[in-house]
Amino acid sequence: MKKTYLFLCTAFFCGLIFWGCQKESSTTPVIIAPPVDSPVVVAPFKILDSIQMITDLEQLSSDAFKGRKAGTPEIALAHTLIQTRLRQAGVDSFATGFFQPFTLSGIEHKNLLAVIKGTSKPDEYIVMGAHYDHIGVRAGDGDVYNGADDNASGVAAVLAAAKYFKTHPPKHSIIFALWAAEEVGLRGSKYFTDNLPGTLLLTQLKFNLNLDMIARSDNNKIWGCGTFHYPAFRYLVDSLQGKTTVEFKAGFDNAAAPQDWTNLSDQGSFHSKGIPFLYLGVEDHADYHKVTDEFSKVSPARVNENANLAAQMILLLDRKL
Ligand SMILES: [Zn+2]
Repeated sequence: MKKTYLFLCTAFFCGLIFWGCQKESSTTPVIIAPPVDSPVVVAPFKILDSIQMITDLEQLSSDAFKGRKAGTPEIALAHTLIQTRLRQAGVDSFATGFFQPFTLSGIEHKNLLAVIKGTSKPDEYIVMGAHYDHIGVRAGDGDVYNGADDNASGVAAVLAAAKYFKTHPPKHSIIFALWAAEEVGLRGSKYFTDNLPGTLLLTQLKFNLNLDMIARSDNNKIWGCGTFHYPAFRYLVDSLQGKTTVEFKAGFDNAAAPQDWTNLSDQGSFHSKGIPFLYLGVEDHADYHKVTDEFSKVSPARVNENANLAAQMILLLDRKL
């Protein structure tokens, strides 16, 4: 996405605590009767497979992918990785297959689309998306724009969510969309909303959650953009306050804000059709659209937390839509 903003500092925390307890043996076992009422089950915040997610982020942002620029032979590596993960997750391809191809200026691009059909509202769709393309190789010295934060991070999160929801079936159908050609003007998501596959109708698209740049915490904030336009969905931000170690804020979605991101990533293709959206992302940082947007600069703890934040939003939407 295109944004410009200063960054302050990077901070991340990563910890794993194990403890165990060993109950002393007793010769007289004590049997405790189960409570009459069912216990209140508090769902954990972190529900996604973080190990696979971080591995995918690292692989997508490695030099082998040559910056995932459309029209290059190496973009096929991204297609293969994404399709492989979707197949491993066991999700179905959408309508005509995992690929939705289209051509721009003689260059073929491919959206990748998968679906989990809803258990009780299968004809109502939530679209969870992220663009997988980036800007390739720098002319002259051949340095690679690896786009680790922009947007290998969002892709890895969507793939992890597909895996989770396959084993935790939602009431509504979820389309998992990995968009092509965002960097040249949101063209993949625009092609999708202009050319819906199969029998899908715009009226069946109930919400778009877009992830673009979710792996940094340079100023300890993560933003949810879109509630200015769709205040009925403000609960997606309000309900998840205090769940993240960085500040989760609503904003950057109107003229009064320092910047308006409404149409600066793939959520714009949905907004232009009147489909409610929330865009999750960080502010621009010093490595935005630079060859230094590398895996070594992202925070695994942050992408894990933000990906789970997105998955929790899908759970909320599925409950409330
Ligand atoms: Zn982006």
